[in-house]
Amino acid sequence: MTGPAFWTAPDPRAALRDLLRKAYPHAVGDTDLLFALTRKYGTSPFTTLETARRELAVDRVVFERLLDTFDQVPELRAAVVNGPAGKYWSNTVLPLESKGVIENILERRTVYPHIVALYPGPTCMFRCHFCVRVTGARYENSTLDSGNAMLASVIDEIPPDNPYAMYISGGLEPLTNPGLGKLVARAARRGFKMVLYTNAFALTAQTLARQPGLWDLDAVRTSMYGLNDEEYEETTGKRKAFGRVKTNLLNFQKLRAQRERPVRLGLSYIILPGRSSRLTRLADFIAELSDAAPDQPVDFLNIREDYSGRPDGKLAPGERAELEDALNAFAERVAARVPALDVDYGYALHSIRAGTEAELIRIKPSTMRPGAHIQAGVQVDLLGDVYLYREAGFPGLAGAQRYIAGRLGPGTSLSDVVAKFVADDRRIEPRDGDEYFLDGFDQALTARLNQLETDIADGWRHTRGFLR
Ligand code: SF4
Repeated sequence: MTGPAFWTAPDPRAALRDLLRKAYPHAVGDTDLLFALTRKYGTSPFTTLETARRELAVDRVVFERLLDTFDQVPELRAAVVNGPAGKYWSNTVLPLESKGVIENILERRTVYPHIVALYPGPTCMFRCHFCVRVTGARYENSTLDSGNAMLASVIDEIPPDNPYAMYISGGLEPLTNPGLGKLVARAARRGFKMVLYTNAFALTAQTLARQPGLWDLDAVRTSMYGLNDEEYEETTGKRKAFGRVKTNLLNFQKLRAQRERPVRLGLSYIILPGRSSRLTRLADFIAELSDAAPDQPVDFLNIREDYSGRPDGKLAPGERAELEDALNAFAERVAARVPALDVDYGYALHSIRAGTEAELIRIKPSTMRPGAHIQAGVQVDLLGDVYLYREAGFPGLAGAQRYIAGRLGPGTSLSDVVAKFVADDRRIEPRDGDEYFLDGFDQALTARLNQLETDIADGWRHTRGFLR
């Protein structure tokens, strides 16, 4: 019984019993309980230990024995991580656990944030209908020089032991900053491998010629807002934008193929309600880009579903079935046309593909953590403001200022801001709507931290969080 087989075997309980009988005979009597526990944490990773124990109707001694067995049977761990909600474990929870980030947060340590996002864009040429940015709000051009100097100081300050400690995103569109290439080159000289999140509208041949430092990026991740001009206009409000983005990406493909250390190219795509049937066209588009440089096909795709408009994030059964079919058709087309493409389906779509309803995290103001999680990550904008959540770093966004941990500037480094935030034990009382400042990562991490604090309070310190 390998990890994924647990979820696909015709009779997984019998398969588990077989495995235990052969390799772990002392645990075979607990087969049913171990089976239930695996299903629980494979579908609802943020369950507290006491909740799981009560659902199994066992006392603490028995429960402890089950947790011990989980430690000794790697196949059980693999089954959880390969479950319908396994992406929460594999993409977020376990990497943060293994690097000690979660302990740093729980212990309120003063450390450099694990990931620092730079938000260098003063403006954006699009106005996507789902974007929280305030129409017309931007950073003044006069902030560019001082802002870039301050971002350069952050790049110089971050310890270089983790090459992936920084990335460039927004907030607003990073390529609207003419100094971006220099910042990337500066980071690359210190050994950082930066990913640029962009809409690629300004990723023109001229931009690349004027800013050669952009070739020092590790990856360019382009957000796609449609697959023709009409769809783009519908979503971004900009006419003829798809044609330009496509030209830019085709050109980028050719140019990067000529380089010795080519930048990886990836796309991200959000499936908006009612648009799942367009997915095969997405695969064709990626194939067209890949064909422009056959030795350098597009490297990766991050695909997500927009649940924001639905109560509790639940899909209606019909919509869900349609999405599942569309995802299968898409996967077939990818296998046929761009087999090397690395597709990340994210938390929600992964569970839909697995044909099982996984619990989706919906953090609300009542479950937000007033102390946030500065040790895990921060976002720094052109003013030097250090934001605690990834979707808060937009100029003029109502309420977002409350989530600024401090401001960088001459005489105030990032480590000073973190140290003060931690020493002051700053708390931000969440208000209605604040949950929209959290992206999927912030939400998953918040859910994990809430779970752990409950486990610890319930006396499960040494086994907190089930897996780690
Ligand atoms: S989602 Fe991105 S590209 Fe769209 S308006 Fe917002 S910042 Fe601009």
